[in-house]
Amino acid sequence: MTPSSIVLLGSTGSIGVNTLIIAERYHLPIEALVAGSNIDLLNEQIATHRPQYVAIAHERDRHRVQHENIFVGEEGILELLERSSSPTVVNALVGYAGMRPTLKAIELGRHVALANKESLVVAGEFIDTSHITPIDSEHFGLWYLLNDRPISRLVITASGGAFRDWEIDTMKDATFADALKHPNWSMGNKITIDSATMTNKIFELLEAKWLFGTANVDAVIEKKSIIHALIEFVDGSTTAHFAGVDMKLPIAFALFGRVEEPILPPTDLLGIGALEFRPIEADRYPIWNLKDDILTHPHRGAVLNAANEVAIQAFEREECTFFGMSDMVLDAYRKFEDVHPASIEEIMAIDGEVRKYVEIRN
Ligand code: NDP
Repeated sequence: MTPSSIVLLGSTGSIGVNTLIIAERYHLPIEALVAGSNIDLLNEQIATHRPQYVAIAHERDRHRVQHENIFVGEEGILELLERSSSPTVVNALVGYAGMRPTLKAIELGRHVALANKESLVVAGEFIDTSHITPIDSEHFGLWYLLNDRPISRLVITASGGAFRDWEIDTMKDATFADALKHPNWSMGNKITIDSATMTNKIFELLEAKWLFGTANVDAVIEKKSIIHALIEFVDGSTTAHFAGVDMKLPIAFALFGRVEEPILPPTDLLGIGALEFRPIEADRYPIWNLKDDILTHPHRGAVLNAANEVAIQAFEREECTFFGMSDMVLDAYRKFEDVHPASIEEIMAIDGEVRKYVEIRN
């Protein structure tokens, strides 16, 4: 199912750049590129891939973009999607900004290769996942392991993030720059902070819930990030997905469905030596207190996501501590526990209310 061309949202980010490496390797045409503010890199990508359409986040940057067909802002991305005709849209935007493009692409009947997990966290109840292939190593791992035997439990792994080996007392003074020092993965800033707080893993549990239709999913720390997912079967067997720490593998599968050439070198099991697993503990990752509740009430993902985005901005501006972020999110989660959005419009309203509440409280 090699697509004839793709639209790439978030082309200048970590997933976007890796997607272009895979696209080049397979001579996959790029119909449209969408970026935020990194206009220098976008111009390089335009020169290499010659897209028909381009979108950027801000009007102020329009004059710097070397292209004739430029769209601007969220509405611009939606219009670009309407104009485009590629069967596959790769959504590698970060955060809430990715939700409406995901919904629009599905409405237009496109296949969405979805890195923007926030789309599912916020609006999973309203997304037809039959149109989606995830670009996330854990969900790719689960998909790779699935067969038709009865399953008892899905397990995804976490690296533990930047502070997994820190004294908890020292974490109180951790800075934004400290939290960006991920032990295993090189990724965009937001997901790296979400890894340090373990919010990323809560997001992934929700993502798994919507994609695989079960809330019987849990997570465990595996320090080398070499195992991405495990499946426990009813018969007592457990299988694990091992692969290198590199998103090109999930990206290639999300684009083509089937891959028969080497994308990554094989995992050198003998070279790995010992593997270490640890439980995820709420004293180091206070957000983990929400795990059971949010899997039972996944519609509260809209609250969790909005509060988390405001908290990360506050932490980056040094307006709160590392644990202050979790305090803000847990407080908002409790405050909005009665919400149950019945439509995308209600999700958008709740998103706005939660952001306002968290900003004022901070
Ligand atoms: P990055 O921050 O590296 O990239 C985000 C991309 O989105 C950039 O191209 C950025 O543009 C663009 N962007 C941001 N805001 C806007 C906007 N308002 N309008 C248009 N473009 C915008 O993030 P990642 O690549 O790390 O992550 C992207 C998504 O993939 C996230 O949802 C993340 O959780 C998920 N993911 C990432 C993984 C990884 O390994 N990185 C692994 C699994 C999932 P610019 O930089 O030009 O401003």
